[in-house]
Amino acid sequence: MADELYKTLGVSKDASDEEIKKAYRKLARKYHPDRNPDDPAAEERFKEISAAHDTLADPEKRKEYDAGGQFGPFGGGGNPFGAEAAGRAQAGGFGGADFGDIFSSIFSRGGGRGQAQEIRGRDLETEVPLSFDQAVNGAQISVTVPKAERCRTCHGSGAEPGTSPTVCPRCEGRGIDAQSQGFFSISQPCPQCGGAGQIIEHPCPTCGGSGLTQQTKRYKVNIPAGVRDGTRIRLAGKGEAGPRGGPPGDLYVTTRVTPSPVFRRLDDGNLEVTVPISIPEALRGGTIEVPTLEGTKKIKVAPGTRHGAIQRLRGEGPPKAKGVGRGDIRYRLEIEVPSELSEEQSEAAEKLAEAFNGASPREELLRKAGA
Ligand code: ZN
Ligand code: ZN
Repeated sequence: MADELYKTLGVSKDASDEEIKKAYRKLARKYHPDRNPDDPAAEERFKEISAAHDTLADPEKRKEYDAGGQFGPFGGGGNPFGAEAAGRAQAGGFGGADFGDIFSSIFSRGGGRGQAQEIRGRDLETEVPLSFDQAVNGAQISVTVPKAERCRTCHGSGAEPGTSPTVCPRCEGRGIDAQSQGFFSISQPCPQCGGAGQIIEHPCPTCGGSGLTQQTKRYKVNIPAGVRDGTRIRLAGKGEAGPRGGPPGDLYVTTRVTPSPVFRRLDDGNLEVTVPISIPEALRGGTIEVPTLEGTKKIKVAPGTRHGAIQRLRGEGPPKAKGVGRGDIRYRLEIEVPSELSEEQSEAAEKLAEAFNGASPREELLRKAGA
């Protein structure tokens, strides 16, 4: 809770005054109402940013906030009036802290108007199927997401067109219900308006007052080259709309890559291909044709190549994740041993055995074993 204001500005708790000022300027420019006309979410965000800056840019206020500062402004994303805050208010009262001050700071903001709480829309998850090729080279894919979006009839307010939400009479728009009992004070979300600070007397007929309707949206997703199965891509702000004009959540797109029948992806980002070679090729060496991502290339097989030997083509693999250069393709050479021989092959094998003079390759092994 106590770092909500830092989060609002996107800075760490030990940010310098200069960093706070810079973060504030950048966000304020982005969300300024002049640049976002008729966008209540941006306006609300702008208010939050300004309020966070008001506190953090003032060394005194910042110190106070850091010390126990649960009394951030409204709408920081959490409810500042949860059990913890109420508990601290009690403790403060007993400890002789300036009780009046705490509450004046709660009630001074907002002037009893406007939305007390801003609720962010939900994050969404979806998957996109990719061919091996698309994963390697990158692609632009469109995804269709059914989700709650701002109602087109009431533009998210939840009130029937021509009417507006009214300020909640119980909490006077603050969204919280604080009851003083002597020294004690219990704060909780206002039961009449549910913490919204507003009451909708004439709900919008399309969305029933929620400000949201189920819609189907289509987005283009740029899949970067070199993604793998299970890569998650975040589309900021493309999740569900927040209720009553709150900011939207994010959309996460997870890639599902169809494996290639030829190329295997290795953990180091390179590819591996199993290439069968014949016994004569293994014995005598030669040049063989192998598949690459773009077509085929020739590689050399050295005379006396062993089963499982690796040959590499550098820079023929997929683009590296960081965008610098390309990986390699490793060719794993496997000697193919036929299970049946033609008469001619059988004769040749016989001759080969003779040529090796019956020498056993296991002599050394057996000698070591003491047999
Ligand atoms: Zn509506
Ligand atoms: Zn209320």
